[in-house]
Amino acid sequence: MLDRSVLVLNKSWTPIAITTVKRGFSLVFQDHAHIVHPETYEMHDFETWLGEYALPADATVPEGQVWARTATLQIRVPEVIVLGRYNGVPRRELAFNRRNIYRRDEFQCQYCAGRPGLKHLSIDHVLPVSKGGPTSWENCVVACVRCNTRKGNRTPEQANMPLLTKPSKPNWSDGVGVGERVPQSWSKFVRG
Ligand SMILES: [Zn+2]
Repeated sequence: MLDRSVLVLNKSWTPIAITTVKRGFSLVFQDHAHIVHPETYEMHDFETWLGEYALPADATVPEGQVWARTATLQIRVPEVIVLGRYNGVPRRELAFNRRNIYRRDEFQCQYCAGRPGLKHLSIDHVLPVSKGGPTSWENCVVACVRCNTRKGNRTPEQANMPLLTKPSKPNWSDGVGVGERVPQSWSKFVRG
């Protein structure tokens, strides 16, 4: 249970990190953070959380919830915590790779807006490589195989195929949960 992930929000409720349950508890215990209730989004300090979500070690915990067990009691595991003071957004790099380009563009062809499924999608260089186009967040988009073939070695202007959205580098939080199931309580803050 203690290896579960906890989403960390800064003071403005912007997601800035994922941490372990152990570290999350420790931040709350030291009063650096509050627990955000996974259903009501109310804030709890360590004491009020224990008041509501501590049970004897041998008690049966509610179904569908994750609880941590100590020698003497069980405590419901926090899913989201919010920091009390820190309001910054640390600079974090989201890995530049195919999977994250697909996620940024929501598996949608940026030319025809189609969603034909992963098998029929590809990555297109907006300015073709042959014309010096870089492999970057700003120059790579998701395109269905059909559009990619049609566009060929041309720019969107030359091919008369305008882009749905101007590609840019996504935020770190857009990449949270890549390849894993994001808990319901996170979905208000990050894309699942
Ligand atoms: Zn297309």
